[in-house]
Amino acid sequence: MSTQKSDTLITTDVSSGNTGRADRPDETVVSATGLDVYYGNDQALDAVDIEIPEHKVTAIIGPSGCGKSTFLRSVNRMNDQIDVCRIDGDLSFHGKNVYDDDVDPVALRRKIGMVFQKPNPFPKSIYDNVAYGLEIQGYDGDMDARVEEALRGAALWDEVKDQLDSSGLDLSGGQQQRLCIARAIAPDPEVILMDEPTSALDPVAASKIEDLIDELVEEYTVIIVTHNMQQAARISDKTAVFLTGGQLVEFGDTNRIFENPDDQRVEDYITGKFG
Ligand code: ADP
Repeated sequence: MSTQKSDTLITTDVSSGNTGRADRPDETVVSATGLDVYYGNDQALDAVDIEIPEHKVTAIIGPSGCGKSTFLRSVNRMNDQIDVCRIDGDLSFHGKNVYDDDVDPVALRRKIGMVFQKPNPFPKSIYDNVAYGLEIQGYDGDMDARVEEALRGAALWDEVKDQLDSSGLDLSGGQQQRLCIARAIAPDPEVILMDEPTSALDPVAASKIEDLIDELVEEYTVIIVTHNMQQAARISDKTAVFLTGGQLVEFGDTNRIFENPDDQRVEDYITGKFG
């Protein structure tokens, strides 16, 4: 899959001849500056500043209700669908504020795909689940090849290649989640947002998704909300800790956050003093 990085929506400089995740320079792909999000009069995010690097896994952790999902949904404007939701501040993708009037949210979501907690395949065939987004965008290339590529990318091809016409709903939970990942990567996004993608799965299926995330980050940037701190420690390069009040309290390299956080509240949270 190509790593084409621009369309009319985005201006970006494409650099980096680097290969290998650890060697890549931290080039920011998504950033927030003074990001406030409200639901009616209730503030869910408070002055969030963050720079999320490309081709890394960034984990968003924190206690329930601290704004993790709200942050994730702000990135590709899924919050637009919530009437009472209001956003202030800046949320940028390659330096372009995604809330500018000239940004098309549908085009944005093609670049920034999303995978949800509960696998949610369409009641369609496996093939059509993956082809769906491409059809909507009027893709007129080799659809079969693209579907295969996306299913391979989601580590599902070998398991489903002989049953592409079967319903996506007949797959196991873990397979359904990988189908949703295939659907998300088919339009060749740059960023994949994942909102607790393994919490509805059994440990074996969850572990496969974790392995897959490790592969996906070679091609994409992954931002994952998880309530599972071991998972964050296992799979992420960067960790952002949100605490009650919708504040981003600490953000940095995952190893440092887990071993030697700056903020006492982060240490208390990570060591299970509250949750
Ligand atoms: P987390 O993902 O960390 O559990 P959320 O982002 O879901 O937190 O929620 C943050 C705050 O925003 C909570 O107080 C929650 O009740 C509120 N909230 C979330 N979604 C909505 C909504 N659609 N309408 C009103 N309030 C919401």
